[in-house]
Amino acid sequence: MRNNAKYVYSATTIVAVLSMLSIGLNAESLDHDDHRQQEAHLHGLVEMTLAIEGNTIELNLESPAANIVGFEHPASTREQHASVTRAKMILDMPQQLLTFIGTPCQSIAQEIDLSAVLKPAETHHKEEAHSEHQEHTDEGHEDHETHSEISARYRFHCTQGTKLTAINVLLFDLFPRIETVHAAWVTDSNQASAVLTAGSITINLEGR
Ligand SMILES: [Zn+2]
Repeated sequence: MRNNAKYVYSATTIVAVLSMLSIGLNAESLDHDDHRQQEAHLHGLVEMTLAIEGNTIELNLESPAANIVGFEHPASTREQHASVTRAKMILDMPQQLLTFIGTPCQSIAQEIDLSAVLKPAETHHKEEAHSEHQEHTDEGHEDHETHSEISARYRFHCTQGTKLTAINVLLFDLFPRIETVHAAWVTDSNQASAVLTAGSITINLEGR
């Protein structure tokens, strides 16, 4: 996969090869690597997963960098650096990203990964998920355009986890390029998912 970068310039036959490779990778990853879930790199879409157990919530966000900073390569211009700084400020304050209904919840740990828009281009290439180019070739991205992700993980502690009835996701106002959030959650007794948009921001946990 070290040579991945050159595939970006190549013809659609290469896309077919990449597609086969990514199927192989996905099958493998089912066994021993849950972390590699990025096959859906669609601009506008954010994947959000929540594990809600007792008073603790683990939240994971995966987003194409384009949604968060407006580009998907290491920042070089002043505007791009400013955009990364702004994104970091917002993501560093998870109380701005979510509101918890029913009980107060505080962030007790967090980890923001903006490396895709910070590192030099050469180290950045190998971080791209292998299937990403194939997702985008039909959108005219074939040229030298790369794709990259920004991720964030948070752990919240809630005063009374059992009283948590809903979570409002405020990402749409903060990052207007986000159109859809796929939210999936597991609780002590249940699992479910929802598609959120700017007009429908609530994860309803009642009856969980
Ligand atoms: Zn992209």
